[in-house]
Amino acid sequence: MTGNITLTMVKPLAVKQGYTGPILAQIAEAGFRIIALKYLRLSEAQARAFYLVHKDRPFYNDLVRSMTSGPIVAAILEKENAVEAYRALIGPTDPSKAPEGSIRKKFGTSIEANAVHGSDSDDNAITESNFFFSQLERL
Ligand code: GDP
Repeated sequence: MTGNITLTMVKPLAVKQGYTGPILAQIAEAGFRIIALKYLRLSEAQARAFYLVHKDRPFYNDLVRSMTSGPIVAAILEKENAVEAYRALIGPTDPSKAPEGSIRKKFGTSIEANAVHGSDSDDNAITESNFFFSQLERL
């Protein structure tokens, strides 16, 4: 059985560039329901913890620096088969390889500043949603 939630973040550069509204609009138009939403700035420790699985990758420090460079918007999105459906909407990690019309193609700047995060599994969707939101913050 597939899960029905995924966790997204609008990353700092995309927020700075004013893309939060257009990205949330595209998400809503694609049939996702936003069941939790917040605007915050990650501390270095929080960004390191969120991306802990990547701690041995060469880009880990750059990724942490970029994710703490400004505020982000985090949201839990609900839809049937949400993880796969959302990854299809955003496109692959590298915006230059993403299909026309996908969120990363339209709003991404580089493989690092690729506009948005999207959970890669149902288990991670739950873990990542719990990272940002308490039960009280979900509607
Ligand atoms: P995702 O699931 O598509 O977000 O990709 P990954 O889980 O593999 O990587 C997590 C995040 O690390 C990506 O969204 C990018 O922001 C960043 N990232 C991935 N690969 C690279 C890379 O080769 N170089 C840099 N600088 N950042 C990367």
